[in-house]
Amino acid sequence: MTIPAQQQSSSRLPDRDGVIARQAARESSARTYARSLQMVPVEASGMTVRGADGRTYLDCLSGAGTLALGHNHPVVVEAVRNVIDSGAPWHSLDIATPQKDEFTDELFQTLPRSLQEKGRIQFCGPAGTDAVEAALKLTRTATGRQPVLSFTGAYHGMTAGALAISGGVSAKTPMAGVAAEGVRLPFPYDYRCPFGVGNGRTGDLSAAYVERLLDDPNGGILEPAGMIFEVVQGEGGVIPASHEWVRQMRKITADRDIPLIVDEVQTGVGRTGTFWACQGAEVEPDVMVLSKAIGGTLPLAVVVYSDHLDEWQPGAHAGTFRGTTLAMAAGAATLRHVRENQLQLRAAEVGDRIVARLTELAAHHSCIGDVRGRGLMLGVEIVEPGSAPDAAGSRPADPSLALRIRKEALSRGLIVELGGRHDAVVRLLPPLVITDEEVETVLERLADSIAAAERAVAA
Ligand code: PMP
Repeated sequence: MTIPAQQQSSSRLPDRDGVIARQAARESSARTYARSLQMVPVEASGMTVRGADGRTYLDCLSGAGTLALGHNHPVVVEAVRNVIDSGAPWHSLDIATPQKDEFTDELFQTLPRSLQEKGRIQFCGPAGTDAVEAALKLTRTATGRQPVLSFTGAYHGMTAGALAISGGVSAKTPMAGVAAEGVRLPFPYDYRCPFGVGNGRTGDLSAAYVERLLDDPNGGILEPAGMIFEVVQGEGGVIPASHEWVRQMRKITADRDIPLIVDEVQTGVGRTGTFWACQGAEVEPDVMVLSKAIGGTLPLAVVVYSDHLDEWQPGAHAGTFRGTTLAMAAGAATLRHVRENQLQLRAAEVGDRIVARLTELAAHHSCIGDVRGRGLMLGVEIVEPGSAPDAAGSRPADPSLALRIRKEALSRGLIVELGGRHDAVVRLLPPLVITDEEVETVLERLADSIAAAERAVAA
């Protein structure tokens, strides 16, 4: 059944087609979401976005995982208004302000114990990639070493250093050789097992490989400055590493005095069912890279690290935009709201429910190769309908069918993005405040979109 997106009064709405056409004509060909999501948002609340076409959409993209509390949450709006009404400076470089103090207090309360006790924080440029660069510089400075261990499928950002340690080959090709390449290790992606084995065995194989490689005197690896990974790979295709694997990486790095950097840019602030994803595995990293949801919708990024790594000299990592007052206030309000309302538990519960329902759906649609996720970071891998699995249990990705599903979803008032290998994973990143009713509508619209896309390609 097709649920028509709600029609609203179109009076005083901007000219949708004109806005899209003008931006398409003037913006770079590198534009991304504007290409795939042909809508013009004009108003938003929670997970509902109203477009200039007068229709409402349910937003399962949430600013690529930024909007823990959805759009324009009252506590965020109030925090921003309070700063504006108070006359506080919006910009103060990295000078001490009460808002920064409050944000830091709020953030530290949520951190793993060892970082609460002996953590340091560096406010970086406002994007996740800035914090990744800072983490790389920090660990290279502290250890005096260069190579960084990173993983297949990783996404750490689009600046030179972050690209070098990311997995996506096409994005890094033009920058080859600009920054020190990391050492690439196999991430435990069981559905597309890098060892060709799969069937639940990829995590252990990955851990054994990493350990043996690091201890091989002829393995070709210079002493590493750090290891970095996402506990649940996001852009790589929503791939959760098992808690056991995360603990194995912690042990391997601790035993060899290699700083462990966990990139929580996308997994943080309750999204995966614990406040930080590393807490699910009860692992304490040496460095955490944080951005997206910590700014409560506004740009903010920090790196938090154990004080034994603080070998930086004054000014070693500077920048003009290191957290505006508005972002600190919006971020503190968001962190507090998630913590006080234990929204991470809600994310875990709702996420489990959605996975169960999508798994049921998979039984009726042979194009669903895999359903996975943790908390409200969910993915449905789209494969060629009717194809047979290989020995490791995986089937060929079907990027064009995935594209069609995204398009059908948009036409039904559901915003989803694609990610993963070959862009064949439909990703769901709803806000943690998604209601039960919204869960039902999302599932219904997604099921309809998958059925419609299958019919369209079969025709
Ligand atoms: N790390 C991870 C895990 C991410 O998901 C992202 C963005 N998707 C980044 C880093 C880079 O963040 P930004 O786009 O803000 O630079």
